[in-house]
Amino acid sequence: MVRTANGHRIHSVTRSFPLPSVIRLNRYVNAPYKGVNLTRQNIFKRDNSECQYCGTKRDLTLDHVVPSSRGGQHSWVNLVTACKKCNAKKGDRTPEEACMELRRKPYKPSYALFLRDITGAHHNEWDEFLEVKSA
Ligand SMILES: [Zn+2]
Repeated sequence: MVRTANGHRIHSVTRSFPLPSVIRLNRYVNAPYKGVNLTRQNIFKRDNSECQYCGTKRDLTLDHVVPSSRGGQHSWVNLVTACKKCNAKKGDRTPEEACMELRRKPYKPSYALFLRDITGAHHNEWDEFLEVKSA
């Protein structure tokens, strides 16, 4: 299946084809993609570089929602962006214990969230083929 890009066409010497903007494979061939790497930078990116407790974009670090000393995992769903102030205030407590509400539940991001960085562009006509996660 081929979706065309705004009616643009590709010309060869004797024929012309619609310029593809989306080519969907009918069968998935050897895709070794394993998911987005769990890194500090990628967690910041998922969280829009905002402290998930107070919303500031300054002085950011990572917070384990359930502290590692309490068995919290080093994982997408237990790590959030937090400013150093909130991180210190929360200390060795869960958000409930510290009475600090998370603005958004941490989640494992989809590939689509990072795709525009890889390609340098994001085309709306891709959305229906990608699992785009809205905030
Ligand atoms: Zn904060």
